[in-house]
Amino acid sequence: AKLRVGLLFGGRSGEHEVSIVSGRAIARALAEESNAAQYETIPFYIDKEGCWHSPEVSRQVLDSGEALAVQGISAAALWQFPPETASIDVWFPILHGPNGEDGTIQGLLSLMRVPFVGSGVLGSAVGMDKLMMKTAFAEAGLAQVNYVGVTRSQIWSNPCVFPTLCDDIEAQLGNYPYFVKPANLGSSVGISKARSRAELETALDNAASYDRRIIVEAGVTAREVECAVLGNDRAQASVVGEISFNSDFYDYETKYTDGRANLAIPAELPAEVAERLREMAIRAFLAVDAAGLSRVDFFYVEATGEVLINEINTLPGFTALSMYPQLWAASGVSFPQLVDRLIRLALERHGEGL
Ligand code: ADP
Ligand code: MG
Ligand code: MG
Repeated sequence: AKLRVGLLFGGRSGEHEVSIVSGRAIARALAEESNAAQYETIPFYIDKEGCWHSPEVSRQVLDSGEALAVQGISAAALWQFPPETASIDVWFPILHGPNGEDGTIQGLLSLMRVPFVGSGVLGSAVGMDKLMMKTAFAEAGLAQVNYVGVTRSQIWSNPCVFPTLCDDIEAQLGNYPYFVKPANLGSSVGISKARSRAELETALDNAASYDRRIIVEAGVTAREVECAVLGNDRAQASVVGEISFNSDFYDYETKYTDGRANLAIPAELPAEVAERLREMAIRAFLAVDAAGLSRVDFFYVEATGEVLINEINTLPGFTALSMYPQLWAASGVSFPQLVDRLIRLALERHGEGL
């Protein structure tokens, strides 16, 4: 019998629309000849309120590519899963950002005791939180920018301590610019570049409206290069790719407006640098306890040859045009093969009792 693959897409996240496009690409790959003989796809769309939809409704969303318009629903409805969820052999969550990439869905799937693609609760949660991620990277000896962790309550609760907080940040990071980020988001949502004390104050206030945990980083001028990792404990790294763009930094608009960003695969880099990046990508993957897949992003300071790790994304964009599958295509693994490999890795990891 064919394995029933539960494809989870959409999600209560700012990256809802991207997830629909990723879901479509994966559903198409599962329908390719080599995969169709082994797998049957049962899609489950999670709407922007977090409500799960039946495979019929979910197929319509996949076909149209359009998010469902939802009115507010009661919390109880969140837990009324479609009955078809009971028959799934392996889950493929392709949810980006909060409530999908952060360990929450992974906790639910772990409780179901059914294998699922990608990282477990720990790897997902550590990989999502930029402060915990950086703590794990530091422990693994990976070079990164200087940073300071701040909480929303430090920013908002007492106006008298705010100048002291900014003084402390400046004392630790030195010269501007800084990057101020909510710790648990993606797609550059809530991130600003601060070039002065006044901009730092505005940026902190803005980031605090997205998350309780905030990170302030020293800004670097560097090329942005990325590496894809595939595997479990013995993971492999792809060729390295580069993103280039004309905007000030790789912000939300640049990420999602056609033609704003360019991917170069493989990146034009000295072989020694590419090799170092690949080795660092695997170390980062293991440092956060990731599994299955991750895209690891770096800053390459050409003038000094220095490579700094920026972040890991445990459920990276997975559309036909996304960096992750393109890096594997350039490394000899086609999109449909990649989807097959990920499902096999999920089964393998589950078989080890994880
Ligand atoms: P996200 O998880 O939302 O992608 P990132 O930490 O990758 O957040 O930041 C988004 C973008 O902001 C990066 O791709 C880069 O262009 C810019 N950026 C982030 N941090 C720094 C930094 N410390 N120095 C220079 N640019 C940065
Ligand atoms: Mg990210
Ligand atoms: Mg990023």
